[in-house]
Amino acid sequence: MTNTPDSPSPALGHVTLVGAGPGDPELLTVKAARALAQATLVLYDHLVSNAVMDLLPADCERIHVGKRKGLHTLPQAEITAEMIRFARAGRSLVRLKGGDPYVFGRGGEEVAGLSEAGVPFTVIPGITAAQAASCLAGIPLTHRDHAQSVVLATGHLQGLHGDRHVDLDWPSLVHQKQTLVIYMGLGALPIISEQLVAHGMPADTPAALIERASLPEQRVVTGTVARLPALAVAHQVESPALIMIGGVVSLHPLLAPHH
Ligand code: SAH
Repeated sequence: MTNTPDSPSPALGHVTLVGAGPGDPELLTVKAARALAQATLVLYDHLVSNAVMDLLPADCERIHVGKRKGLHTLPQAEITAEMIRFARAGRSLVRLKGGDPYVFGRGGEEVAGLSEAGVPFTVIPGITAAQAASCLAGIPLTHRDHAQSVVLATGHLQGLHGDRHVDLDWPSLVHQKQTLVIYMGLGALPIISEQLVAHGMPADTPAALIERASLPEQRVVTGTVARLPALAVAHQVESPALIMIGGVVSLHPLLAPHH
């Protein structure tokens, strides 16, 4: 590319991919809060809380690119293309994603696109929903007596209509002394519950649903893995919610924060 004095191409803008955490703005990292306070342009997801958005300067331009179930505001490739266009026009921007950008957030795909296009980027970690739900519901992810490993899995439903399934390696999820945390699993709760038990998980394994962790409306519902679908219906649990399964859930009555 040649630059003439008449038409200098602008310096490439920088993309800062920021983990917005679970919702409570006080759970942002100091780095993330600083990036938000200095932002002039932000592309944000549906999951980012209003309280976090309130930290942006009043004159910061905001573009909603997030996904809601079944309602894609912008296809994934378009989001990356949009960031590359802005950067090539010399505009730096913040790409704001719920939780941690590299936990079920497609952050890796977006940064791959930026990297291939030669756009400079930084990634700021965020507290992922599993960490927030764990501490705020009183359900440790690991515990010497109950769990020596943790699995974070996605319960996203695949396929259409009659052929809906969840693409998970069920046997690897059914282990003693392991905590299983499932993101995006509400819609597939009957399948998840049934498959885990079918693959040998004791039906009475403690399980919890944590809705809107860290937000003022946070709710925690506990029961057993077999009863999860009925619990979700009875308590009308809604997205965003996490499923936590394993012996650690039995600690909830003792460790749930007292106010
Ligand atoms: N990158 C995000 C996850 C995006 S996938 C992170 O690291 O947390 C979206 C799923 O995350 C939701 O379907 C839900 O399962 C979970 N989730 C996100 N925020 C949540 C919250 N505040 N409370 C409970 N679950 C949440």
